[in-house]
Amino acid sequence: MTTSSVIIIGAGISGITAAKELAEKGVEDVLILEATERIGGRIQKQSFGDVSVELGAGWIAGVGGKESNPVWELASRLNLRTCFSDYTNARYNIYDQSGEIFPTGFAADSYKKAVDSAILKLKSLEAECDGQEAEEAPSSPKTPIELAIDFILHDFEMAEVEPISTYVDFGEREYLVADERGYESLLYKMAEGFLYTSDGNILDNRLKLNKVVREVQQSRNGVVVKTEDGSEYEANYVIVSASIGVLQSNLISFQPPLPKWKTEAIQKCDVMVYTKIFLKFPHCFWPCGPGQEFFIYAHEQRGYFTFWQHMENAYPGSNILVVTLTNEQSKRVESQSDEETLKEAMSVLRDMFGPTIPYATDILVPRWWNNRFQRGSYSNYPMISDNQLQRNVKAPFGRIFFTGEHTSEKFSGYVHGGYLAGMDTSKTLLEEMKQSLLLQPLLAFTE
Ligand code: FAD
Repeated sequence: MTTSSVIIIGAGISGITAAKELAEKGVEDVLILEATERIGGRIQKQSFGDVSVELGAGWIAGVGGKESNPVWELASRLNLRTCFSDYTNARYNIYDQSGEIFPTGFAADSYKKAVDSAILKLKSLEAECDGQEAEEAPSSPKTPIELAIDFILHDFEMAEVEPISTYVDFGEREYLVADERGYESLLYKMAEGFLYTSDGNILDNRLKLNKVVREVQQSRNGVVVKTEDGSEYEANYVIVSASIGVLQSNLISFQPPLPKWKTEAIQKCDVMVYTKIFLKFPHCFWPCGPGQEFFIYAHEQRGYFTFWQHMENAYPGSNILVVTLTNEQSKRVESQSDEETLKEAMSVLRDMFGPTIPYATDILVPRWWNNRFQRGSYSNYPMISDNQLQRNVKAPFGRIFFTGEHTSEKFSGYVHGGYLAGMDTSKTLLEEMKQSLLLQPLLAFTE
């Protein structure tokens, strides 16, 4: 059986960051076990329509503020090609089902009403938590435009968690990654710093791909990690970086079982499903001028093919549209064929742009919900939650440490959340390792 100081489960941004940090601090015998055939996790590029599209994280969010976003720094060092991307204009490009754009003033008023209602909703939830009655009940969105704006506010701008630390700390700007090497090249660059690579391939046997961890056993002396192919690995400590969706799914069992405070916290954290569907066309038929990167479709069903983006700013001439679905709509399209999804998307586009538009020549539908190594896109803590919930999700249990975007108190849900969580967990573990080394002579003496 192989023995290491630390086993890291998962090679997404948090796992790779934790491993790199440990290696740089002298703990070089780390072992990374990754379930899939690649590193990157929810940062994943794929070739589509002659360009490289991002199935998972696409934006570097939080740039231009008083503090520097570490992911932006990594991207700058790598000269990653990005383009400024701002969806605040989307609210002025809202189409109804007959292809008319709602007048700017009307859209702005509807937006203001929706913001006011979101604030009231938050207040009433706070009052409910304090056992009081809310002064005014928020109105629920009813018309297609109200539903569309409600969708943008809550599923994109996350109105319920204002102020958002990402924007307060790192700045309001967002940049879309538009680089053939993909967002994931940041992870390969980091891995190169401590793993042996040749011609862009990681050949270091401290990274083991296609290793699905099914069981983590811990005892007083260490941990044993068992994988689906029957292998066993021993270490002093383990860091689990699998997503909150995977933790909820029980793919990995723990012996002895995790305590109640831990399992309850894991189950209480919501998982957001966020799906970017890519459509390739023979030519552009949508407006591409300034302020027109994003457009909205208002439908009586909330979230039904609502949020659209063209990729001409990122890749001019690519003729690709992206429509983003979330939660129930994501799960619905994941369970049907891509042809059915394409038919629905085409019908929506014809509503907006007329019956003569060309049919898409290709479609790409990522399935984050049905992926047993993800079970969703990112963590979404309840609107009103005390920090104790997040602290419990993150807290170690004996020799088992937890990392990942869901353990970041300020930046959960983001790539920089994963990066900072990896840094934070490795720091905590190094401290623990130092303490146990200090204690060892004392324990030997008392035994
Ligand atoms: P992961 O990347 O999920 O890494 C965990 C790893 O563990 C994975 O590689 C997985 O395969 C592996 N694993 C799971 N189970 C096992 C097991 N049993 N055994 C071994 N290995 C296992 N963030 C942004 O900042 N900007 C965005 O624009 C953005 N958009 C997003 C859009 C989508 C569609 C998605 C899905 C996410 C988006 N995010 C975005 C969020 C961002 O991608 C994540 O927060 C971040 O990448 C999470 O990194 P992580 O290391 O915590 O987890």
